[in-house]
Amino acid sequence: YYEQVKHSERLKTTGELAAAVAHEIRNPLTVVKGYLQLYEQDKTLDESMKKSLPLLIDELDSAEQVISQLLSLSRPTMDQNTESVDIERAINSVAELLQSYGILNENKIEVVVEAGSYIEINKMELHQLLVNVVKNAIEASKAGGTILITAKKLKNEKIEIKVIDDGVGMSEEQMTLLGTPFYSLKTKGTGLGVMICNNIVKKYNGSIKYESLKDCGTTVAICFPSKSILHRG
Ligand code: ADP
Ligand code: MG
Repeated sequence: YYEQVKHSERLKTTGELAAAVAHEIRNPLTVVKGYLQLYEQDKTLDESMKKSLPLLIDELDSAEQVISQLLSLSRPTMDQNTESVDIERAINSVAELLQSYGILNENKIEVVVEAGSYIEINKMELHQLLVNVVKNAIEASKAGGTILITAKKLKNEKIEIKVIDDGVGMSEEQMTLLGTPFYSLKTKGTGLGVMICNNIVKKYNGSIKYESLKDCGTTVAICFPSKSILHRG
């Protein structure tokens, strides 16, 4: 028992340490980015310097992404309150938020949700989960592809949310690597999104399953008990 306590204490401090380090790294990144943006306005700067500035800022943005996601892994959200969240509203707000992200590639987001479905959950965490899954769906989509988000009540008092894309899909080998920290096939990926989703789902005794066919698309099925009991620690 003593060993167990020690172990969980160590994990807690590791998480806190990660959060502190992430914070400390973010501050200097912000300063450097600020200066680079200033230099962009500088008319006396020579051409080659000027050309490299957007690339440097882009690289800083990538680093900032990793830091943000690491932060949310080690310290999910400050506010740990749960409430009865209307799934329809939560999904619509994510669809609206990411609509413009899909427009670049002429992707459509469709929402089909059974009204009156609620989950007892932390609102921010549900949002974070949905944003990560839908973002991945958009990023996997081919030009003109459609992302369908559905939600319905199952017979056993559970709520099922599905995010279905007709994008690039994954091979069996890719599927086995899914959720490994920093596993990403994207040039600008962090490889932390799936892990973040897994953590959130687990916390509320839910499940998340991926079905995928290379070149055909992916279905992510998330299931929550409608009145979930928090699984802490
Ligand atoms: P990131 O999005 O930063 O790459 P994630 O953890 O969110 O990191 O996803 C890891 C990898 O899983 C992605 O790089 C991608 O290869 C794969 N993946 C996730 N969702 C999908 C999807 N809907 N379709 C195809 N591949 C996916
Ligand atoms: Mg992602």
